[in-house]
Amino acid sequence: MSRFDYIIIGAGSAGCVLANRLTADGKTRVLLLEAGGKDNSILVKMPAGVGSLIKDKGAYNWGFWTEGEPHLDGRQLWWPRGKGWGGSSSINGMIYIRGHARDYDQWRQMGLSGWSYGEVLPYFKRSETLEGGGDDYHGSDGPLYVSKASTPNPIFSSFIKAGADAGYKVTSDFNGYQQEGFGPYQLTIKDGQRWSAARGYLHPVKDQRPNLVTEIEARTTKIIIENGRAVGVAYVQGKKQTAKIAYADSEVLLCAGAVQSPQILQLSGIGDPEALAKVGVPVVHALKGVGKNLQDHLDVVISWECPEAITAYSYNKGLKRLATGLNYLLRGQGPGRQNFLEAGAFLKSRPDLDRPDLQLHCVLAIMKDHGKTVIEKDGFSVHVCQLRPESRGEVALRSADPFDDPAILANYLATDEDRRALREGVKMVRALVKGAAMDAVRGEEFQPGEAIQSDADLDAWIRETSETIYHPVGTCRMGAAGDELAVVDETLCVHGLKGLRVVDASVMPTLVGGNTNGPTIMIAEKAADMILGRAPMAAVTVPVFEDASAA
Ligand SMILES: Cc1cc2nc3c(=O)[nH]c(=O)nc-3n(C[C@H](O)[C@H](O)[C@H](O)COP(=O)(O)OP(=O)(O)OC[C@H]3O[C@@H](n4cnc5c(N)ncnc54)[C@H](O)[C@@H]3O)c2cc1C
Repeated sequence: MSRFDYIIIGAGSAGCVLANRLTADGKTRVLLLEAGGKDNSILVKMPAGVGSLIKDKGAYNWGFWTEGEPHLDGRQLWWPRGKGWGGSSSINGMIYIRGHARDYDQWRQMGLSGWSYGEVLPYFKRSETLEGGGDDYHGSDGPLYVSKASTPNPIFSSFIKAGADAGYKVTSDFNGYQQEGFGPYQLTIKDGQRWSAARGYLHPVKDQRPNLVTEIEARTTKIIIENGRAVGVAYVQGKKQTAKIAYADSEVLLCAGAVQSPQILQLSGIGDPEALAKVGVPVVHALKGVGKNLQDHLDVVISWECPEAITAYSYNKGLKRLATGLNYLLRGQGPGRQNFLEAGAFLKSRPDLDRPDLQLHCVLAIMKDHGKTVIEKDGFSVHVCQLRPESRGEVALRSADPFDDPAILANYLATDEDRRALREGVKMVRALVKGAAMDAVRGEEFQPGEAIQSDADLDAWIRETSETIYHPVGTCRMGAAGDELAVVDETLCVHGLKGLRVVDASVMPTLVGGNTNGPTIMIAEKAADMILGRAPMAAVTVPVFEDASAA
């Protein structure tokens, strides 16, 4: 029988942080269970490999599909999720963004003490080493390496200049004093290599600390609850699917992400009794909110052809693809070092908003269907997503079989405001790319194409083509007692049970205004102190841009 102090389920962004922090004393015994394998593919290491990792189901990608989305003409959407060491941080776009300071102050205002911006900033800093050194907003010696955009591509610089020319703000640091405006992205890339949570937190310690036991191809099927306490985990391992059980003397820490954490809770009988009854899972602990409150960033992609051979297509066409791969493999050089996404913007779709509600990603490729449809042309795309959707979806069990994919219904664009914001975003992007600063790099509009102009046509095109930009959260949301749909409290303990916390993107009560890897790592850094019974890091006060024109 194997006994540990803590069992961590899932070696993704959050799980890797906990595995590192909880074992730092050399004594605390931790078991890290990961359903996937190791992260040793060149595609994971090489930033340009992201294109392949996102579109293919396989060793590194669970490759889920949503249910037919009712407000997107019944389309099922492709939902990549990372599998194996590093989880989604091993297949993500490597953009480092924290969200807006007010997102966290809003969590605090929801009654979640400890989660204001001033209280979470020390944990962001603790996690980070920013290229060139830290400051009031950035860390200088954390495990997560963050570099600054450095590829001198004229599409990126023209895009930022076009934003400035159009009268938008410009910012040099989306994660510092001012998020709003156009600027360069920071990236979780170090020396031309992806810096996943596994690279930063797990690899440096996994062979150094005998008190950390890592198991791969170890898929949790159930959390074992006895007398109101999580005491262990049932899992199956390897090709033979050998059934195993491990016991946790202190806590079980669920870090399987926004899709699979609620799935595992429900498989363990923790959830809405009505939903569990439908699939024949006996109720162990009634908790209505499990799987509810799903929020995600829905994204539309506007693309242009480019008259210059300066985009991913030209670097990768024909034999150049092989040359790019070899150059990277043998010398660590060339376009393989890039994620092809180094400029963006945070904008308001209405002037009265208190913070940007749209994010733009400028990509050096014509993107269609997550890159599954290859477009043989030089071109670039501007992704636009709405940052704080009102729509709410759900992750539910399809059956009691732990190997069945869960039923994901994001319920995108269920409200007028969500439809308005995205439509407005498309109009703003089109107007700014028409700016003179982009004349030299802009060819014909590839999608949606000049014929699509009216609101009705834009709405129809958005319904037909919008896709996830991969940031689901909220399915085990934090909330105070009395909050009907809360799953965990502000210390991430599951309401009504002992010995069980959820620590991952699923606990976010509301989506933050930005990409979710950095915030998830911050959550796990903070959770580590809570789990170890340490006092929280001292809150800090730093100035944050206040827009006097906002209502
Ligand atoms: C394609 C893609 C692109 C993205 N791009 C960006 C980006 O550029 N910047 C950014 O900030 N964010 C990005 N994100 C989002 C970000 O990476 C995630 O929000 C973050 O990694 C979530 O961390 P997590 O710990 O909640 O879950 P994950 O990192 O997904 O980890 C969950 C882990 O649990 C494991 N697991 C699941 N079920 C079981 C089970 N039954 N038993 C054992 N293990 C299990 C999984 O295999 C996985 O390793 C992207 C995500 C994706 C998928």
